[in-house]
Amino acid sequence: METFQVTCTRCRQTRWVYMAEAPTKFVCQRCQAVLAGRNAVDPLPTVGQRERGRRLAARRTPTPAEIQPAQEPRSALPLATGS
Ligand SMILES: [Zn+2]
Repeated sequence: METFQVTCTRCRQTRWVYMAEAPTKFVCQRCQAVLAGRNAVDPLPTVGQRERGRRLAARRTPTPAEIQPAQEPRSALPLATGS
């Protein structure tokens, strides 16, 4: 028996399993329960959660139109001409 790092084919979460052989296709227990129609918490985010995440992401990264153009560095000091 060995411990293998596997990725759930459904929710893409990394899990560690203790098996005799590395599984070729892995679905985590939670996904299995959800797929079986059991009352389990779905590890996949709901549409609402994804929608909210997208809105938060949009707020974090402004679109190019929202980015203020860089101010031209204007020299506040009058040009020192001769002295
Ligand atoms: Zn899963």
